[in-house]
Amino acid sequence: MHTISSYNFCCKKTLVRVDFNVPLDADFNIMDDSRLRASIPTIKKIISDGGSVILMSHLGRPKGVVSEKYSLKYLVQHLNKLINEELGCSINLFFVNNCIGENVISKCNSLKEKEVLLLENLRFHKEEESGDEIFSKQLADLGDVFVNDAFGTAHRAHASTTIIAKHFAPENRFFGFLMEAEIKNAEKVLHKAEKPFCAIIGGAKVSDKILIIENLLDRVTDIIIGGGMAYTFIKAQGGKIGNSLCEIDRLETVKNILSKAAAKNVVIHLPIDSIIADKFSKDAETSESDSNNISEEWMGLDIGSKAAEHFGNVIKNCKTILWNGPMGVFEMEKFQKGTLSIAKAVAEATQQGSFSIVGGGDSIAAVNKFGFADKVSYVSTGGGAMLEYFEGKTLPGIAAIKSI
Ligand code: AMP
Repeated sequence: MHTISSYNFCCKKTLVRVDFNVPLDADFNIMDDSRLRASIPTIKKIISDGGSVILMSHLGRPKGVVSEKYSLKYLVQHLNKLINEELGCSINLFFVNNCIGENVISKCNSLKEKEVLLLENLRFHKEEESGDEIFSKQLADLGDVFVNDAFGTAHRAHASTTIIAKHFAPENRFFGFLMEAEIKNAEKVLHKAEKPFCAIIGGAKVSDKILIIENLLDRVTDIIIGGGMAYTFIKAQGGKIGNSLCEIDRLETVKNILSKAAAKNVVIHLPIDSIIADKFSKDAETSESDSNNISEEWMGLDIGSKAAEHFGNVIKNCKTILWNGPMGVFEMEKFQKGTLSIAKAVAEATQQGSFSIVGGGDSIAAVNKFGFADKVSYVSTGGGAMLEYFEGKTLPGIAAIKSI
């Protein structure tokens, strides 16, 4: 792998693509700084070698228009604090209010060793998302070497994530430490998984998860299905699901998945019972029901206690665990028990020596909410990117660094 560990960045102006797409509140306070923290090891390595760092990122979806709301300048203070804490000394961190142009070139030229410059949001230029050649060259000209550490956007063929790489010789482009960890962990699960191997797939819609389920059928021994998507499976088997989420146009696809799984000896586990509610609300009346016999007007919003116990037993028996998507509407207190019980089972299995990886936006939010992030083997930072990796797709941001 083209990693940075054995490279000496001394005197190099290093262009680093990071993913600083952090949530900000209305007063521009950072709500979750994990993505900033995840970039620090790579920045530290370059500075410790005596290089200078030019950071580039997107934030939100400004769609090619300059917008105060999406300015990266609001990250400067906190990022500076994180870098200084990690390095144990005071580092100069500058900000420039564009990512291309004369002013940016002059700031980059005057950047000294061990200094950091953060460029303004790349997506203020529509050329970023369209993967524009000229724009990518203007960015590339700012640095001597290129490091991609933005796993969260590795599935996008944007100017700064993919197109830019061709302007650097293969020996001058690298994966940062975060990318390296993401790729290594994902590869371990996809190609070197110890069995039994279970995938826990939850969330709202079957349609979003079909490709990942199909790709995993050749690799896993068990698939646990929870969340809203479970009811399309239960309906496909002839169950009564009341008002629960159901994608009628996916019933045939689901039947097809069930028969493929049977042919490959993969056991699909569906929730035997559910927590049902009379409406989709935190104040709903609730009850427990068999998942295949839910009364009309009621809907399943979480897995039930028997399902949680059964899923927990499967998980604790597995050597490799991949988890994507919550078991219920975990944002509401009445429907979070199922997801919490899965988090506990994954943590227990990990403590017993199993390898566990959690990824995809809402599962990360769930493990963070329940305080389990440091009790699993690896939490992936990339939602869509992680999903596409496990669907078996080639991510353009990764391919661009590897290509010869
Ligand atoms: P996804 O983005 O597809 O992983 O879906 C995550 C969302 O699915 C979360 O916001 C959950 O609230 C929602 N969800 C999970 N279980 C259910 C359910 N039984 N019914 C409706 N929504 C659900």
